[in-house]
Amino acid sequence: MENYKVIKALGQGTWGVVHMATQIATGRIVAIKKIKSERPEEGINFTAVREIKLLREFKHENIIELVDCFTTPDLGVCLVYECAFTDLEKILSNKAIPVSLSDVKQHMKSLLTAIAACHDRWILHRDLKPDNMLFLKDGTMKLADFGLARMYGTPKLRLSPQAITLWYKPPELLLGSTEYSSAADMWSVGCIFAELLLRRPFLQGKQTDISQLDTIFTVFGTPNESNWPDYETLPLCTRGLEWDDTSPIPFDEIFTAAPKDAISLLRSIMVLDPNMRFTASQCLDHPYFSNDPPPTPKGKLVLSAG
Ligand code: AMP
Repeated sequence: MENYKVIKALGQGTWGVVHMATQIATGRIVAIKKIKSERPEEGINFTAVREIKLLREFKHENIIELVDCFTTPDLGVCLVYECAFTDLEKILSNKAIPVSLSDVKQHMKSLLTAIAACHDRWILHRDLKPDNMLFLKDGTMKLADFGLARMYGTPKLRLSPQAITLWYKPPELLLGSTEYSSAADMWSVGCIFAELLLRRPFLQGKQTDISQLDTIFTVFGTPNESNWPDYETLPLCTRGLEWDDTSPIPFDEIFTAAPKDAISLLRSIMVLDPNMRFTASQCLDHPYFSNDPPPTPKGKLVLSAG
């Protein structure tokens, strides 16, 4: 910690407290996230260190830069990131901040560019949600918390209520699949797109996996052999869990203010069967991104009220 001077606490996150600090040697303002070791008696988690090194070498315009990492005497790992100004959750929940259809296109372009770059390198995010889409003062979106879920498992004590949200979790994981693929990240991308269009979270289940599945099936219809071949092999289905048959609700009845091309793209992402979901690069090739209106230039995005 001797290389940094703490300025103030930025907030309490899933893994611990985050502080704003100055890197003494450079004067750079950074955000330091201290992650407590779940089992200090076992020493530093070397898988975590390997993953951190990998992320340190991965530089991308839309992925938060990991500036440094070090351990403290109590074997906590400190991750030092470039410091962001705000995040998408804060923007969307502040109704005084306007979010236009062009802004939505810019946010989706940044998100998909970041995800495509990660999936190309076989890196999965596993916890995509508006809180993890940070913004620098110049309007650049930076995806944060990459790989942390895999590095550290599920923390026993989740501190922020947002962190326990199930709203971005794909149906295959809710049904007990243990094989996490890039398509699972894409479901979360679809939830974020829908939330940008509705300006409220799309699939708001109530705390349990079953309630989240109920919410998903109410909108998308229940899975069957034609919309999701093989779904019956997933653990929760083999244990006999069943739903009454329901039909999907057409997206244009839900997203009444959204343009047709946005709905068409959303429909290609949010598909129950993970094998049928668009990949991030397929999404970027969709006409939605070349049609009018063009995405708002990042410098013109409104990040705070007033
Ligand atoms: P987290 O642990 O990611 O949930 O973050 C906890 C709090 O710290 C949240 O309010 C985040 O917005 C903030 N935070 C996390 N990373 C950064 C960062 N790189 N720059 C600025 N604030 C951050």
